[in-house]
Amino acid sequence: MKHYSAFAVAREALRYHMGWERAWASPEPKKKYDVIIVGAGGHGLATAYYLGKNFGITNVAILEKGWLGGGNTGRNTTIIRSNYLQDPSAAIYEKSRSLYETLSQDFNYNIMYSPRGVIMLAQTEHEVRGYQRTAHANALQGVTTEFISPARVKEIVPIINLDGPRYPVLGGLWQARAGTARHDAVAWGYARACSAMGMHIIQKCEVTGISRDGAKVTGVTTNRGDIACDKLGLVVAGHSGHLADMAGFRLPIESVALQALVSEPIKPCMDCVVMANTVHGYMSQSDKGEMVIGGGTDGYNNYTQRGSFHHAEETVRALVETFPMVARLKMLRQWGGIVDVTGDRSPILSKTPVDGIFINCGWGTGGFKAIPGSGWGFAELMAKGHSPLCDEFGLDRFYQGRFIDESVAAGVAH
Ligand SMILES: Cc1cc2nc3c(=O)[nH]c(=O)nc-3n(C[C@H](O)[C@H](O)[C@H](O)COP(=O)(O)OP(=O)(O)OC[C@H]3O[C@@H](n4cnc5c(N)ncnc54)[C@H](O)[C@@H]3O)c2cc1C
Repeated sequence: MKHYSAFAVAREALRYHMGWERAWASPEPKKKYDVIIVGAGGHGLATAYYLGKNFGITNVAILEKGWLGGGNTGRNTTIIRSNYLQDPSAAIYEKSRSLYETLSQDFNYNIMYSPRGVIMLAQTEHEVRGYQRTAHANALQGVTTEFISPARVKEIVPIINLDGPRYPVLGGLWQARAGTARHDAVAWGYARACSAMGMHIIQKCEVTGISRDGAKVTGVTTNRGDIACDKLGLVVAGHSGHLADMAGFRLPIESVALQALVSEPIKPCMDCVVMANTVHGYMSQSDKGEMVIGGGTDGYNNYTQRGSFHHAEETVRALVETFPMVARLKMLRQWGGIVDVTGDRSPILSKTPVDGIFINCGWGTGGFKAIPGSGWGFAELMAKGHSPLCDEFGLDRFYQGRFIDESVAAGVAH
């Protein structure tokens, strides 16, 4: 793999950019791999990457029914933060956030990580207390956050209206090293690094069946033939229920559409991410100048990758009181993804009832931020059978009633 550098850019500029190689290879599938990962989203690719990097396991195929990063990874609003309430969540999200800090250097590929800061607004007395509690929990967990006053919120976000008649801004939970990254670049960076280790990324390869020998997995059936494996990782977000069904077990998970929209591009006006969880909306500004706006999930289960008009309207209406300037913006485009939501709003990183099959899902509306940490932990789980980052997120928690409840702490859990 050629090294990307300023020198390489200059060299290629002099020869009409004819010397760049493809970022990743597109090989034909082999008959057998040590490990197959289903799903080339961020979590699947990161798992493969850390299997190779941390455990030397490189006879790996990542099978993707569409194009890599074309699922939720390429459809999200890219918020990265780790200000969760429960200890297991803070551990995995903070590991992830800290890996994001140096991911561009690790990959030699710019993922445009921008630690611009994230504020979660407190707009009711109850929310003030809730976020103060989260700030205290974060201090114990080693996650740097602080509860800030309305005046400080205004200083950081001059375009905000603090005195909304229904929901005045009473303060906010501020994480200064939280931020955003370019979502496609995260997928592409992992893919390039996996390919460089000799792993096979096979796009347009849909898994349609899972074969077993008794209780043990033996491989998968795909639209490009049968492929055998010793271990199988299912990392397919909103399609996890289908894949579990193919393997013969059930998951406590729902699939729903989550959508977002961007406005027309405008001059720079907000250089951090603001989440207003009471009214259910959040906003940041992209490098192109678009206001990136997201809200909650559709209120019914579905598999449409688009979302409904009424939800876009609700989200914008929710934000107008706090950001009056939104009322003057034109919407440029809207899109949706199918997210996989668990009852306690925490992920599942687990062995399954089938020997050799592991599942990584349930990131719901907030898994982009978790990609490096999840890949790190899930690779360890697949390689060694357990991982300190994942052990609490096993499927057994649903049998034991040992929930990791982030539904309130995470609010609009992006
Ligand atoms: C509108 C929106 C906004 C969001 N905002 C944020 C945010 O701001 N911050 C945040 O942290 N998170 C956010 N999220 C959530 C985040 O995007 C997801 O949690 C995360 O991207 C999940 O990554 P993944 O790799 O698990 O899944 P995906 O990226 O969806 O990848 C799964 C892949 O599996 C493939 N697949 C499915 N079935 C098969 C099959 N049978 N065979 C082969 N391949 C298959 C799919 O094609 C897909 O590419 C948002 C999501 C949406 C939709």
